[in-house]
Amino acid sequence: MSTSTGASRASKSPEHVVVAGAGMVGLSTAWYLQERGVRVTIVDRTGVAAGASWGNAGWISPALTLPLPEPAVLSYGVRAMMSPSSPVYVPLAADRRLLQFLVGFARHCTPARWRAAMAIFAELNRDALSAYDVLGTGGTAGHEVREPIRDADPFLAGFASVEDRKVLVDELAHVVSSGGEVDYELLTGDEIRSLEPTLGAGVRAGVRMLGQRFINPPAYVASLAESVVRRGAELVSGFDVVDVNDFGANGVEVVSATGERLRADAVVLATGTWLGELARSYGVKRVVQAGRGYSFTVVPEQMPKNPIYFPVQRVACTPLGDRLRVAGMMEFRRPDAPLDPRRINAIVEAARPMFTGVDWTARQEEWVGSRPCTADGLPLVGATRSPRVHVAGGHGMWGIALGPLTGRMVADGLTGHALPTYARHLDPLR
Ligand SMILES: Cc1cc2nc3c(=O)[nH]c(=O)nc-3n(C[C@H](O)[C@H](O)[C@H](O)COP(=O)(O)OP(=O)(O)OC[C@H]3O[C@@H](n4cnc5c(N)ncnc54)[C@H](O)[C@@H]3O)c2cc1C
Repeated sequence: MSTSTGASRASKSPEHVVVAGAGMVGLSTAWYLQERGVRVTIVDRTGVAAGASWGNAGWISPALTLPLPEPAVLSYGVRAMMSPSSPVYVPLAADRRLLQFLVGFARHCTPARWRAAMAIFAELNRDALSAYDVLGTGGTAGHEVREPIRDADPFLAGFASVEDRKVLVDELAHVVSSGGEVDYELLTGDEIRSLEPTLGAGVRAGVRMLGQRFINPPAYVASLAESVVRRGAELVSGFDVVDVNDFGANGVEVVSATGERLRADAVVLATGTWLGELARSYGVKRVVQAGRGYSFTVVPEQMPKNPIYFPVQRVACTPLGDRLRVAGMMEFRRPDAPLDPRRINAIVEAARPMFTGVDWTARQEEWVGSRPCTADGLPLVGATRSPRVHVAGGHGMWGIALGPLTGRMVADGLTGHALPTYARHLDPLR
């Protein structure tokens, strides 16, 4: 890991930090702060994993952890994006902030900007897995995260045709040319079905990737929260942060909607798609837009053992022990809008031809949640214009894969430790 000390704006190490947001990113930050000897209080307006960290696909897959703005997204065209069955959906009535996001997003879909972002992701991916591994050992403060991280052996991608497969194969070639690592091989329809018999006749080509991992997101995040509490953190649910006051050398104060006040030396805002609301007054201008995704679970007759990806349909499937989570969609709408059943149906119709032995009417755990998306596809990690107010978020599609690495960077930044050189690309004030 390459390091530089200049990226930190913290003056001296804080003794007590409040982390707002008990998702993957906030809890990872709390965990790494504890590694640095800092006392932590975590507050969440609902509770553990109340946001995107619950219903996601749980992939920790360096081969696929890539920037969201990419040239291919634009090729969907504006018309396709406005159809409720399209995997990327933009409502007709876009508000000012959404328009600002979309214009910025489109600007970052050029091949040159995509390549630059790919190179940054290659660096992030190189450190992402080791940041996870530490959680499982308990680090120096002990009390490891008990829920396992599973090796995807292998991680499969399925396609309706050899022609469809080209999109992923080209993308993997770009990963390699950007400095990333991917170990993969091509499969026929019969070969991929022999590895995963639940796949149906609709799958006529495949890719088998090695070196990828996955978690059961609700179980893992609950286990991370338990670990953080065992390590001495206070976790306060029902604390809706509405204000953050900075008192300079006298620290900070977070204020709840019901008027409770919590003092600390510093605060980390890890409130997912709601990050902008609190961070804006500290100079964070980047819009964090909700990219809403949907998921549900089914119980196939033959349970897959590993994740399966359908890149063309943009559907992600992950085994959660006794059931299969099926996830997809990217809907740019406000995060609190109700679940739209048309999107669930669109995922079902996209996935149905690819499987056999699944009762798609027996769906459980239907869910919608918001990926915290930035227009340039890069997270927001580090100090704001106050050295006592840090942000950790904006990971879009990849806050699970990059949560622990982010937590480590934020903890290091706050406690005056050296940061990796790539941290400068994630500067929240960019
Ligand atoms: C369908 C889908 C599939 C995905 N698959 C993957 C995947 O396979 N791999 C991957 O890496 N990523 C995946 N993601 C993305 C990933 O889920 C997110 O990037 C990640 O969960 C974001 O974590 P977070 O902690 O930043 O935010 P969240 O998990 O949203 O947590 C934010 C927390 O802040 C709290 N909060 C908000 N505002 C306040 C406030 N004012 N005061 C107090 N608390 C507040 C919320 O209650 C919430 O608990 C997927 C997302 C979706 C939707």
